[in-house]
Amino acid sequence: MKERTFNFSAGPSTLPVEALEKARDALFDFAGTGIGIMEISHRSQEFSAYILEVEANLRTLLGIADNYKVLFLQGGGSSQFFMVPMNLLLDKGKKATYLNTGVWSKKAIAEARLFGEVAVGFDGSAEGFHRVPRPDEFTVSEGSEYLYYTSNNTIYGSEYSYIPQTETMLVCDMSSDFLSRPVDVNRYGLIFAGAQKNLGPAGVTIVIIREDLLERAPLSVPTMLRYKTHADKGSMFNTPPVVNIFVAGEVLKLLKKSGGLEAVQQRNMEKAALLYEVLDSGDYYRGYAERESRSLMNVSFNLATPELESKFVAEALAAGMSGLKGHRDAGGCRASIYNAFPKEGVERLAQFMTDFAQKNPA
Ligand SMILES: *Cc1c(COP(=O)(O)O)cnc(C)c1O
Repeated sequence: MKERTFNFSAGPSTLPVEALEKARDALFDFAGTGIGIMEISHRSQEFSAYILEVEANLRTLLGIADNYKVLFLQGGGSSQFFMVPMNLLLDKGKKATYLNTGVWSKKAIAEARLFGEVAVGFDGSAEGFHRVPRPDEFTVSEGSEYLYYTSNNTIYGSEYSYIPQTETMLVCDMSSDFLSRPVDVNRYGLIFAGAQKNLGPAGVTIVIIREDLLERAPLSVPTMLRYKTHADKGSMFNTPPVVNIFVAGEVLKLLKKSGGLEAVQQRNMEKAALLYEVLDSGDYYRGYAERESRSLMNVSFNLATPELESKFVAEALAAGMSGLKGHRDAGGCRASIYNAFPKEGVERLAQFMTDFAQKNPA
């Protein structure tokens, strides 16, 4: 087999080799049943036990209290853009405040407007989304049911280093920094995260929802789109994405074994620091995000010209590092270094960046 490429892709993204090996074995034999994980009934005793263990491990890692439900849904992070307001706003045309810090927030705002009134409490669009608001810089419109924000802006490489302080209930899209650091779940009404950045393959989305919110959806919301439907049935109202849940489950076991979220955060800080040090060492590379908003997950940067950027991406690929081209909306380059991305790969990129700058004067 070819040596594994260092995959800096923003999502789907690199997964731990141990989890891939478990998945390979489980393709043919899940839990000693002689039946593959793609083939086994989600209602089998073995899978029923497995999904409970996945939930238990997630609860332990994040310290999720008993008054929260954990759901395994489909439809990606993007479906939560409408499920959230459908369930929490639709009844009697209520209002919510959204913080607009990038493409994903913008999409969530557009969807929420289909179901209720949306106030924008911070808008980074005019500045080109180079940062998230400072802790005292956003406003929450009076009468808002919730304050919605995107904790990590995958495309621009900006991330909140704090949890917004407000009396209003928090709703957060944590798709691209889920489980990358400890988080006080009790501060939130609802957290969601598509799996394919930090947790597993695309196709399962985690929703953590405070129990009392399950009753908020009006009767006009279709059964499959009501959180309560899935909460009442332990995410087994219909067939859940079994394989995806399996891989996520193996990733969670590894996270637990490797010291929990404090340890994960420590490693993520060390990895990101290697790249930001290169960005800060001169003016050859320009970091996209402002310093206080820098993401530990996605490091976005520019070189002097698009031509140099293309050369950079191509030569990096030839050196075993893939996925460094920036998102089409932000341009430039981006290194996504999620939990599972190995430190050796970050070290290799940092060295490559230093060498490239020397060989290719701007
Ligand atoms: C990737 C991403 C999404 C969209 O996820 P899909 O599963 O592709 O729908 C939403 N929010 C953030 C922050 C993301 O990074």
